[in-house]
Amino acid sequence: MTADVVDGSSPAAPAIFQTAAFTFDDQDLLTEAWSRPDGAFAYSRLQNPTVRTLEATVAKMESGQSAFATSSGMGAISMVLLTQLSTGDHIIAQDRLYGGTFALLRELTQRWGIEVTYVDAADPAAVSNACRSNSRLLYLETIANPLGQVYELPALMTAGHRAGLITVVDNTLATPCLCQPITYGADIVVHSMTKYLGGHSDVVGGIAVFADADSHRQFWSRAIDFGATLDPFAAWLVLRGIQTLPLRVHRQCENARYLADRLQHHAAVRSLHYAGLPQHRSHAVATRMLRDYGGVLAFDLFGGRAASRQFLDKLRLVKIAPSLGGTATTVMIPSAISHSQLSESELRAADISPGTVRIAAGLEHAQDLWRDIQRALDACRDEASHRR
Ligand SMILES: *Cc1c(COP(=O)(O)O)cnc(C)c1O
Repeated sequence: MTADVVDGSSPAAPAIFQTAAFTFDDQDLLTEAWSRPDGAFAYSRLQNPTVRTLEATVAKMESGQSAFATSSGMGAISMVLLTQLSTGDHIIAQDRLYGGTFALLRELTQRWGIEVTYVDAADPAAVSNACRSNSRLLYLETIANPLGQVYELPALMTAGHRAGLITVVDNTLATPCLCQPITYGADIVVHSMTKYLGGHSDVVGGIAVFADADSHRQFWSRAIDFGATLDPFAAWLVLRGIQTLPLRVHRQCENARYLADRLQHHAAVRSLHYAGLPQHRSHAVATRMLRDYGGVLAFDLFGGRAASRQFLDKLRLVKIAPSLGGTATTVMIPSAISHSQLSESELRAADISPGTVRIAAGLEHAQDLWRDIQRALDACRDEASHRR
C-alpha cells in the first residue's frame, strides 16, 4: 500500500495507517465494508489496518477468535458491560476488583438499574448460589490487584456457564504469558494494554478478546457506536511493545520474586502479599492457574499509613506512579490511587489497609531495586527509633 514497497521487499515493522477514512471506487464495496468487522476498511472508528493487526495479534496470544481494541482498559470494560447488559440484568462479580471497574459497576447499579452481587471467588459454589433468573454475566480478574488473589478459573467458568452466564476475565495483571483465560472457558478477556502489553508507559489502550467470532461480530456492531476505539498510532506502539512481552514479563516476575523473598524477612514489614510465596492464601491455586506469579506485590509496614508515606518519600530509584507494567519499577498506595473509589468499609472488606504499599516490578537489576527499598525501609526504622 505504500509506494516504496516492491515485490520481494516488505517492511520489518508494521505500517501506521494514520487515516480517518478510506476512499472507494465503488459504492457497493463501501456499503459492504460499513456493515462488518472483517471486510474492507471504511472508517477508522469502525476498523483500521494497524488496529486490526494488533487485534489479530492479541486474539492469537489469548487463544481467542477475534478482538476489539479500545482507547483504554476502562473503555474495553465499559463497552463489554454496556453491550452485553440491559436494564434489570444481574451481574455476579468477584469481590476483589480494580478500583475503576468497581466504580463503573457502582455507576451501573445506581443509574442504569443493573444489579451486582459480589462473591468470594475462592468458593465457586458462591457463584451458583448467587445466580438468579436475571443473571447474565460473571466478571473476574486473573490476578487481583493489589493483593494477588488468584481463583480456580475452570471451576468458576463451569459454574457460570451452567447458569447461562457470559464469563468475562480481566487478564491485565497476568498477561497471556502467564494465563490464557479462554483456554479455561472464558467467553471474553479484557486488558488494559496501558500496562504490560504496551509495556513502556507511553500509551493508553485496552482490548476485548472474544472466544467466539459471532459474539465478536455482535459486540462490534454495538461497540462502534460507543466510539471508544483505538488510534492507529497507539495500536502501533502496543504492537511494538508486545514484541518483547515474554522477556519483560519473565524479568518482572523474577524481580518481584527477588523483592518478595527479601521483604518477607525485613523487620519493618508486617505482612506481605505475593502469590509466589507459599504462605499466600492463593499460592496453590496460582501455581495451577499461572505459569508464574506476576510482577506485582503488596505489603504493609508496622506503623501503617504514616510509615508507608515516609517509605515512599525515601525511595530514589523506585518512583511513585499510578501505573504498572512499564520498564521502571513503580510504587504507590492503592487506597489513595487505584482503589480510591472504595469507601473505608469497602477497603476493609477487600483487605486493603490505608497503608498497604503496592510495588510493580520493572526491568532494573534486582539488587539495585532491593538496595533502594532496603535503604528506604531502614531510614524509616531509624527515624522511628529516634523519635522513641
Ligand atoms: C489499569 C487497569 C485497568 C484500567 O485500564 P486503563 O487503561 O487505565 O483504562 C483495568 N483493569 C486492571 C486490572 C488494571 O490494572
